[in-house]
Amino acid sequence: MTQGMPKHGTAFSVLKTEMIERGRGDVQWRDGKTAVYVFNAGEDVTEVQKQGYLLYLSENGLGPAAFPSLKKMEAEVVGMGLSLLQAPEGAVGHMTSGGTDSITMAVKAARDYARAQGQPEPFNLVLPYSAHPAFDKAAALMSIEIRRVATRPDYLADVGAMADQIDDSTLMMVGSAPSFPYGLIDPIADLSDLATARNVWLHVDACVGGYIAPFVEMNGVDLPPWDFRVPGVCSLSADLHKYGYCAKGASTIFYRSEALRDHMIFDQKDWPAGRMVTPTLAGTRPGGAISSAWAVMHYLGIEGYCQKQQSVTRARARIEMGVAELGFEVLGAPKLGIMAFSHPELDIFALYKRLFERGWVTSLCTQPKALHLMLSPFHETVVGQYLTDLTWAVEQVRGGITDAVTEVRYS
Ligand SMILES: *Cc1c(COP(=O)(O)O)cnc(C)c1O
Repeated sequence: MTQGMPKHGTAFSVLKTEMIERGRGDVQWRDGKTAVYVFNAGEDVTEVQKQGYLLYLSENGLGPAAFPSLKKMEAEVVGMGLSLLQAPEGAVGHMTSGGTDSITMAVKAARDYARAQGQPEPFNLVLPYSAHPAFDKAAALMSIEIRRVATRPDYLADVGAMADQIDDSTLMMVGSAPSFPYGLIDPIADLSDLATARNVWLHVDACVGGYIAPFVEMNGVDLPPWDFRVPGVCSLSADLHKYGYCAKGASTIFYRSEALRDHMIFDQKDWPAGRMVTPTLAGTRPGGAISSAWAVMHYLGIEGYCQKQQSVTRARARIEMGVAELGFEVLGAPKLGIMAFSHPELDIFALYKRLFERGWVTSLCTQPKALHLMLSPFHETVVGQYLTDLTWAVEQVRGGITDAVTEVRYS
């Protein structure tokens, strides 16, 4: 039976104790035991997130005229994003509540652009099989057909096969930088050539890469071109609440030009309370998500991010070596914070279950079966522990303890 609301109020001190108690059954993410859902850049960053959020906890980004503070902070966050993503003069962006919001708005903009161009409906969207389900959600909301195209044997977008799926009603093509399942950057330059030749909107989903890849490049790693330097890129999503280490509820969506962006904005005045112009999906927008992002980005600065992202890539490189010694094969050549690795003999889903028993909550790939890690700076301190537990898991599974997870769920 569900419990109704208590008749009497309770002192917050009592509630707080209970709330902390309730978290004890959760994954021990503060100990680095999860490599999904949470990004841990250290206690100091968490403190900046919190304090930065609290200062504008009650303010509302819906009312920029009332809160010019938030308007300015959002503009500065967007400005930092544009410069990190090498956007050309005239490019614009907005903060949204998350990657799904950013992607939905990009699809909406592309949809309205396609309509303005007179493209015949019903529309379709062509994307690699590895692209995020947020595109399917957006497409479902707008009755757009989704055309997922199998990736190449190296797990990257198959540009030739995508070309075969494009027709007069294609309103968008997608490439990921990187894809969530494999952590690999799709051939954005080739997708751009195709998009330009066929006159199709290209969206780069850099939700999980947009705020790590620029710093990895600054740290001296060569990446394939993936951002606004690639001329066919019309829009790009990048999540602040992932490798930007900002409080949750913060992402960015960027457009090459104001003309493209204008198709995103919703403007409605036919109701009894005045004209309402909302750039993104949300009405009320938490001021704290904006102020917290502003605070974290200024707290870390380019140098801080370069250091944090170096910790991530160091952790990834050490894990790559460790898992290779255990006979695993890393999928492709990941260069950012996500990696996946398969095993030629051992049941990955059984290994996952052993690791889970040791408190690790990470992810799984299904095609091929692979263990999946989305690493944070903090993981650098627990690489040894992870590899020890993985070695133990391998021994257990080799020893015949092979009961396995039966369903792979990302959420
Ligand atoms: C996380 C992610 C998204 C969706 O972002 P949310 O903030 O979870 O809505 C989209 N694309 C990729 C590649 C992602 O990793």
